Amino acid sequence: MNATTVSTEGGPLHARFDGPIVMIGFGSIGKGTLPLIERHIAFDRSKFVVIAPDDSDRRLLDERQIRFIHRALTKENYRDILTPLLTTGPGRGMVVNLSVDTSSVDLMEFGKDLDTFYIDTVVEPWPGLYTNRNRSISERSNYALRESVLDLRRRRPGGVTAVSCCGANPGMVSWMVKQALVDIAGELKLDFVEPQTREDWGRLMQRTGVKGIHIAERDTQRARDPKPRGKFVNTWSVEGFLSEGLQPSELGWGTHEKTLPPGAARHSFGCGAAIYLTRPGASTRVRSWTPTARAQHGFMITHNESISIADHELAGAQWKPQQTWHILSEDDIVDGIDELGVLLYGHAKNAYWYGSQLSIEETRRLAPYQNATGLQVTSAVLAGMVWMLENPERGIVEVDEMDFRRCLDLQRPYLGPVIGCYTDWTPLVDRSELFPETLDTSDPWQFSNVLVN
Ligand code: NAD
Repeated sequence: MNATTVSTEGGPLHARFDGPIVMIGFGSIGKGTLPLIERHIAFDRSKFVVIAPDDSDRRLLDERQIRFIHRALTKENYRDILTPLLTTGPGRGMVVNLSVDTSSVDLMEFGKDLDTFYIDTVVEPWPGLYTNRNRSISERSNYALRESVLDLRRRRPGGVTAVSCCGANPGMVSWMVKQALVDIAGELKLDFVEPQTREDWGRLMQRTGVKGIHIAERDTQRARDPKPRGKFVNTWSVEGFLSEGLQPSELGWGTHEKTLPPGAARHSFGCGAAIYLTRPGASTRVRSWTPTARAQHGFMITHNESISIADHELAGAQWKPQQTWHILSEDDIVDGIDELGVLLYGHAKNAYWYGSQLSIEETRRLAPYQNATGLQVTSAVLAGMVWMLENPERGIVEVDEMDFRRCLDLQRPYLGPVIGCYTDWTPLVDRSELFPETLDTSDPWQFSNVLVN
């Protein structure tokens, strides 16, 4: 008997998957992703299992008669727990990893051993790396975590598709960079065909004269109740947020840059595309621009979330978090949008922002159990899962290697207004008016002008 269920409520069916699905983690992203999977992918409910050490949202699974395993995966137990779940057939299984504190690389490699699909939204290590004093700053970076995925790909090329880092940022923003670049090339009236390879994308970037890219986000979602003293409040994983804020500040380092910023270092291994600063991202401020905020200061962490609360409350306590925390649900938030996109700058039209302006009101209408920040992530997971099923033999892929048009098409119904706009803002606008500053006026887009000293 084929038990695959088809849910037609709320949207077109994008894919069908008869094998077992294991979702690891059922926090803000897991519980938001589930209804999108139900809506757009036909799957066998009796073969869908969720594993997590906290059971606060178990009710949502019980209502749906979805099996829940109340355990934490560890380096020691993950193979024993997952193998029987993923080998019940028919065909391949699938791991949807939406957890913290589990090693993406180990789970990906395990997926290769079992010939199982795999997708996640971040390269996560087993617990302890971010605060391990015996590991160098470089080893604690996202650069190093990404290199570990690339290393696995070199060791285990090809085979079943495993998608790395398919959330909003990282994730969707890589697709938006490509769309933005095509828009700019069109605006500049360049004679070009849409690139298909990594090299061709690089060449088009060069031809348009783009010097750099900010992942530029402004989250104006406002909670109904003021944040209680001693409680850490966020719109997504508090643990994930703290981990990233504590990692070194990192940035891709372009050839147009003249001098390394103070405290910067290069990694001694890997592709060499990025540098890191010897300070955490949650204490590194930079200048950027989004359509609603316009000129703004943001934090240069791996995810450009709005982390001003972390600055005041983490740095002051030597980076020790509050004992309690809370992730804002769609009901906790009264208004606001998450404006998340990419700013491509330095070309003949100065700078172009392309992204999603998703409001909490629209989010409530579109999908349950999540705020606007969450829906930008969960819709990327959905797009990634569908693309993975449409491209089952691609080996380990980064989101930059996926079909950006197909993925954005799948995701767009959940992104609210998706807009592109040019701006004449540069990091030199309104500078040095009240206080003297050392600026490089010969090139507004030098990182020395972007960094807030
Ligand atoms: P959350 O803190 O709300 O939930 C984390 C979940 O992981 C919980 O269910 C928790 O019980 C589970 N978990 C913890 N330890 C585990 C273990 N050892 N084994 C199995 N499960 C475990 O986090 P979230 O907001 O749902 O985020 C989930 C992941 O998605 C995080 O890694 C986060 O960094 C990532 N994320 C990525 C993006 C993006 O845009 N790329 C955005 C938001 C979140």
